[in-house]
Amino acid sequence: MAQLSELELLKASRNPLRVIDDLYKEALEGIPLKDEYIGLLKWYGMYPHINKDGLEDKKYFMKRIKLVDARMNLEQLRVMSEIGQKYAKGLVDFTTRQNVQFHYIEIKDLPAIFDMLGSVNLTSRMASGDGPRPIMTCPVSGIDEGEIYDVQELLKTVDSYFDQNDDRFCNFPRKYKIGISGCKCHCAAHEIQDAAFTAFKTENGEVLFDLTIGGGLSKSKQIATRANKYVKPDQVLDVAVACAEIFRDNGNRDNRNKARVRHLLNDWGIEKFVEEIEKAIGYKLQDGFEARIVASYENRNHFGINKQKQTGFSYVGFATNSGRVAGEDFVKFYEICKKYNAGGIALTGTQNFIVYDVEDEVVQSLADEFKALGYPYKPNPFRARLQSCTGKEFCKFGITETKEYAKKVVVELEKRFPNFLEDVTIAISGCGNTCSHPQIADIGFVGCLMRHEGERVEGYEVLLGGNLEGTSNSRIARKIGLKVPATGVIEYIEKLINDYKKDNKGTSRFKD
Ligand code: SF4
Repeated sequence: MAQLSELELLKASRNPLRVIDDLYKEALEGIPLKDEYIGLLKWYGMYPHINKDGLEDKKYFMKRIKLVDARMNLEQLRVMSEIGQKYAKGLVDFTTRQNVQFHYIEIKDLPAIFDMLGSVNLTSRMASGDGPRPIMTCPVSGIDEGEIYDVQELLKTVDSYFDQNDDRFCNFPRKYKIGISGCKCHCAAHEIQDAAFTAFKTENGEVLFDLTIGGGLSKSKQIATRANKYVKPDQVLDVAVACAEIFRDNGNRDNRNKARVRHLLNDWGIEKFVEEIEKAIGYKLQDGFEARIVASYENRNHFGINKQKQTGFSYVGFATNSGRVAGEDFVKFYEICKKYNAGGIALTGTQNFIVYDVEDEVVQSLADEFKALGYPYKPNPFRARLQSCTGKEFCKFGITETKEYAKKVVVELEKRFPNFLEDVTIAISGCGNTCSHPQIADIGFVGCLMRHEGERVEGYEVLLGGNLEGTSNSRIARKIGLKVPATGVIEYIEKLINDYKKDNKGTSRFKD
């Protein structure tokens, strides 16, 4: 039998979610933070910053907060904006998994931060780590006029099942990412989840969820496989738990690079995977051979002012620049929402956000105030669709600085192409872990070091042609064998768009 790695031994030695108690106790006794604890802090969404030598810093941490239904109501928004200002040096990121990520968090401030989060029913438990991650969903569930099914209750049921049974779900071979969505745009990106439930309506009006398994990006990227099974709403919890336990018990614990659901799926094949699910839940799932989920990526957004299904209310979709929000802007988000008595904000999977439950009479004024702050509701494609990861500013894997650089790229492209309206998608990642999803972008950049004009400089490998459009038509972007120095990214994108404009006879999209 293969020997367990150091991390596996550590995970097996205690529930990582209980480590925080030991850590407080020792901190109170003046015992310095032990190295072994650092890796386990992920279960509370925490990752150490890196210092100027590129080594883990034990003073400051990134900290991710889980938003169970991608939302913060007004009180939660107030508390989160206070944390951003008081403890995170005013630096707030919206992630591609609909969570908020703070920076510069110190261990000594954790009790106060947990109290603040707890006072408004928020948590960072299982915001990261080797277990079920926060569930991807549609940010306008329950309010969008055209939605197929309101999944909010279902989502909370599945999340709280994992949370309340944490001893069973805290030690997986690696992370387990699921999506549950009833959105007509399919904005929760089921194609890249470990397991996803995507609603559709049958001809007779019944709501079913198409089950997909084994999607994911990073180095072992692949588009999810349809299980050819439909799941009824009241079966979703059973199947989500069964998939989780199958992965927990059979996933690879020897090699973390092969420890995702997709590796198990590739070893077993989809038929065996489904057989195991049905064995675990104790009943057969309905056959579903027809793919019903085909919305294209460019239509997967909720920007602009939109009527809610609740009469008299609207929601507004806004764009950030590359997912970073200044702490003082985050406070303003709360103040504007409070001024207009909005319900709160919800995060999208593209580092953007929605303000919901706004009365129709004031919705234009609210939208204009956010726009004046720098968050447009009719964004151009670059601001709407450029995603960037944390990068080497804070991430130990980072080869290039991404976030602040990406913001400059957006501003420059807006200047150079004020009238370019096609939904071009761009993603900039600081290393091959591809956290900003360059593999599903039209133009992707993956951080590397390269030689340029005799110097070793930060640069990017270029990927082209990624797209999400259902499990059959999605494309993983291809490396084209080109590296550009970081200083040349804007010019490279400019050339691509100019070439496209010159050659396009109006019959194809940039994406094609
Ligand atoms: Fe860090 Fe790399 Fe992920 Fe960027 S892509 S956040 S640098 S691990």
